[in-house]
Parts: sequence; structure tokens; C-alpha cells
Amino acid sequence: LSERLQSTIQQIKGKGKVTEADIKAMMREVRLALLEADVNFKVVKQFTQTVKERALGADVMESLTPGQQVIKIVQEELTHIMGDEQTKINMSQKPPTVVMMVGLQGAGKTTTAGKLALNMRKKHNKKPLLIAGDIYRPAAINQLKTVGKQIDIPVFSLGDQVSPVEIAKQGLQHAKEEHLDFVIIDTAGRLHIDGDLMEELSNIKELVNPDEIMLVVDAMTGQDAVNVAESFNDQLDITGVTLTKLDGDTRGGAALSIRAVTEKPIKFIGMSEKMDGLEPFHPERMASRILGMGDVMSLIEKAQGQIDEDKAKEMEQRMRKNEFSFNDFLTSMDQMQNMGGLETILGMFPGVNKKMLNNANFDERQIDYFKAIILSMTDEERDQPAIINPSRKKRIAKGSGRPLSEVNKLLKQFNEMKKMMKQFTGNKGKGKKGRKGN
Ligand code: GDP
Ligand code: MG
Repeated sequence: LSERLQSTIQQIKGKGKVTEADIKAMMREVRLALLEADVNFKVVKQFTQTVKERALGADVMESLTPGQQVIKIVQEELTHIMGDEQTKINMSQKPPTVVMMVGLQGAGKTTTAGKLALNMRKKHNKKPLLIAGDIYRPAAINQLKTVGKQIDIPVFSLGDQVSPVEIAKQGLQHAKEEHLDFVIIDTAGRLHIDGDLMEELSNIKELVNPDEIMLVVDAMTGQDAVNVAESFNDQLDITGVTLTKLDGDTRGGAALSIRAVTEKPIKFIGMSEKMDGLEPFHPERMASRILGMGDVMSLIEKAQGQIDEDKAKEMEQRMRKNEFSFNDFLTSMDQMQNMGGLETILGMFPGVNKKMLNNANFDERQIDYFKAIILSMTDEERDQPAIINPSRKKRIAKGSGRPLSEVNKLLKQFNEMKKMMKQFTGNKGKGKKGRKGN
């Protein structure tokens, strides 16, 4: 999430209610974040419109956490645009399944052909055959043979003097004879879309009638990827997309645009140059990546599962009236522990790494100790900590099995927290007066 978007959310979170203007400001930041992630501007425009309509709905405006709600809607809609669910490769009822790799030169067709073969053998128990259909680049056939050798998968080649259509035809025949049930045809690419190439690919398509025409697109090419996908789809009616080089520092906005423009599913992503670097495409994870959110979404979901909204509202009310008690403190500590403790929570934020957590030196046990101390207080003491005098302190320490110094520490921290809340809610009070219709 861009820092600016983050800070807009912070501002909104600080408010008890959000206005239409707040939502608009937030949508502006969302739009920028998407454009920065290389999402096509037309797609962004339509997308923000949809999100805005949903965000202005009553649920969000009246919720306790409007900023987070809006982000949740953004995440949901992004996931939706990218197809919601993971889409599997098309398998033929009658083997062999035939996959044709298409795409520009350097996109990663040959590499992905090898990765896919390995994936199919490992995960689906298939017996793949790779067909060397790129006869134009001198090294292309050897490259595929090297790949095949590396993963121990047969490669069918007729050299570079036979037409790719003929190679595809004979290769398919070979697969049938050898009872190989998953055929991947590697094809040539060009630096740019070109008529001759498209014609050749169309001819291969007509002849072998592939179950899958897999367009391979380099995610690093950003906006260009959309045009490429659009032309290939127009000419060949592709059935799936593999987005490669997502191990680079691209935010992956191309995934969103390609899906939106072609309406064809992205099925795999390439995450390294190595043969095991192919992963199924998950729309939800890509949505997080595009927003640069780390695992914040699962954090929000976790929080929603754990925190009872009514309870939270009640607590907020009490904070405002400066009635926050040790019982409330206890509740909030329980909630935090339910969510996996402070360390888990912080660990989900983008930019927080293990080392930082270790340096911060959290003692999760401290929370248990504090809880033990609070549980040793009477109800009256929890409600009005002011009455806790030295003899009560001693009793509490004894009851909880914790040293007196720790009881003092807790009381001190609690008082400081209350002071902070007072300042915070004091500001809020001022804001309230200024608001109309409340
Ligand atoms: P083709 O021309 O479409 O067949 O592309 P290649 O398969 O020859 O790949 C071009 C370059 O991209 C090669 O150096 C590959 O190693 C590299 N490559 C392909 N896929 C990935 C990927 O997912 N991640 C990374 N980092 N490199 C990739
Ligand atoms: Mg190639």
C-alpha cells in the first residue's frame, strides 16, 4: 500500500464517521496506487467507479472501521476482476492434452514450457512431450533440448529445415505412438506483433486443435503487456495466460489489466528462472501484491473474526467518557492474544521483518502477567483503580504471584494510557461539535 494511501486511511480511521469527501480522497489514493502498479488507466477508471459506489453504501459509512472497510472492498473487487478463483489448465478428455505456447520473443515461452512439463509430471502424474517449434532463432532448439535434459523430459525436434506446422503434426503423432499424454508445443516469438507470425501460429492452431493456447507475457513490460495480450487474443482466441518474471520488482498490475481486457484467465505465474519456479495464479494474492499490502488483508479478516463489534463500540464509548477500566484493559489484551499476540500481528504488516521483531524484544509473557494481576483485583478496584492503596497493592501482588514492583508498573502504565486516551478523545470531542447533523 502506498504510504500516502496508508496515511489517508489513518486519517479516516481516526474519525468516528466518514464522509463522502473522505471516500473520494481515499479513492484518489487507490487510483494512484493502481496506476503506479502499472494497471491500465481505463481499467483503473472503471474499477474505482465500482469501488466508490460500494464504499458509499451505508455499511461502510456506519462501520467502526471505515478505512479498513474501503480497503477490503478494493481488495475484493480486485480479486473479482482477476477471476475470483484459481483457474486450472484445460485437460483433454481424450489424451494427449495439447498445449501451445505463444508470446513475444523473450517473454519466457521456452522456459515456461519446461516448467509446465515438470509441473504436470509432478502434480498430475502426466507423461509430457516438448515439441521444438521455434525454428527461427538459431539457439532455440538447443535451448529446449537443454531444458528437457535438465528435467528429464523428452523433446521432439525435426531441426530447423521443416516447417513448424509439420513439426507440430509429426510431434503429436510421436506422442500418440509413445503414449505420452501431455504435449507442449514451443513456438517462435517476434520482438513485436507481426502478421507472418500470427499466420503461422493460426496454422498450427488449426492443425493440432490445442486444448490450451497459453499466452506467455512478461510482467515486467507493464502497460505494453496489455496490448500484446489484446492482439494475441484477437488473432488466436487464447485460453489462458502465464505471467512470467513476477520475481522481479514489478507490482503485477499487468495481471489485472490483461484479465480485464481479454477476459481470459491467468493460470500460472513465473517466479524464477528455475524449472520449479511456476506457481498457480491466485487472484486474491495478486490483489494484495498490486496494492502492496503484505498480509494486511488476512490481518483485517482475523480482526473481524475476533473482535466483537458491539463490545468494541462499548469500549470506545467508555474511552470517550474516560471510564476505561481494568476490565476493558483485560478484554483488549484477550483480543490481542486471540489474534495470535502482538508479534504475530506486527509480523503481518508489510515492511516488518523477523529481525525487527527480535530487536523489539517482545515479551508475550508480560501480557499473561498483567492479566494475572488484573484478575487478582476486585471488581471495584478494576473499575476505580484510584482506590488501590499500598495495602491493596500488596494483596494483589500476593494473589497474582507477581512482585509488587510489577503491580506498580501496571498501574503506572494504565494511568498513562488513560491520560493518552483523554487527550485523544478530547480532540475528538472538538471535532464532534463542528460536525453538522449529529
Ligand atoms: P522465449 O523467447 O519466450 O522462449 O523466452 P525464454 O523462455 O527464452 O526466456 C527469456 C528469458 O527470461 C530467459 O533468460 C529466462 O531464463 C527468463 N525467464 C523466463 N521466465 C522467467 C521467470 O519467471 N522469472 C525470471 N526471473 N526469469 C524468467
Ligand atoms: Mg523460446
